[in-house]
Formats: sequence, C-alpha cells, structure tokens
Amino acid sequence: MSFEDKSLQCSDCGATFTFSADEQELFQSRGYTNEPKRCPSCRQARKSERYGNSGNSYRSQRQMFPAVCAECGKDTEVPFEPRSGRPVYCSDCYRKVRPSK
Ligand SMILES: [Zn+2]
Ligand SMILES: [Zn+2]
Repeated sequence: MSFEDKSLQCSDCGATFTFSADEQELFQSRGYTNEPKRCPSCRQARKSERYGNSGNSYRSQRQMFPAVCAECGKDTEVPFEPRSGRPVYCSDCYRKVRPSK
C-alpha cells in the first residue's frame, strides 16, 4: 500500500494544506480512518486552546459585592453592584421574595 501527498482544505481557515504520504501512513497505523479536517496551524491552535485555557475559569469566577439583606439584615454577597433604592436580599430571602415559578 502506497500513499501519495494529498491536498486538503482546512475546515477552519479554508487554507489548502498537504496531507503528506508520511502522515497518511501514520494516520493509518494509528487506526484513524478520517482525513484531517484542519491545517497543521489550526490543529496546533486548537490544542493550545484546550490546554492553556484561562477563558472558562475566568467566566466562572464572578465578582461578588458585599451587601446587607433588606429583609433579614444579614450580611450577604450579590453578583451585581448594589444600588441605593434597590433592595438586596440574601439567598434565603431572595427565594421568599421572588419565588420561582
Ligand atoms: Zn486552518
Ligand atoms: Zn435575608
């Protein structure tokens, strides 16, 4: 079984890249049946995205603001900046004041 260099189009950036005979052989030896969909640089970019990501953990870290519950007077924290004139509730009271349907 011999392989020939193939030209493939990257599904990410649309660039044409070479799927070389060597790579095809490597793919087959690993049992991969699909051709690569992305050019080497896009593959590399996706890899580093997966391993060196700080974007997701940043999103889960919401800034919390200290506040005093308008209902029971307990110290609490809310995910938004409390404004004067708008009552802020602790999580217990929030559930009482605004019951979810
Ligand atoms: Zn690409
Ligand atoms: Zn409360």
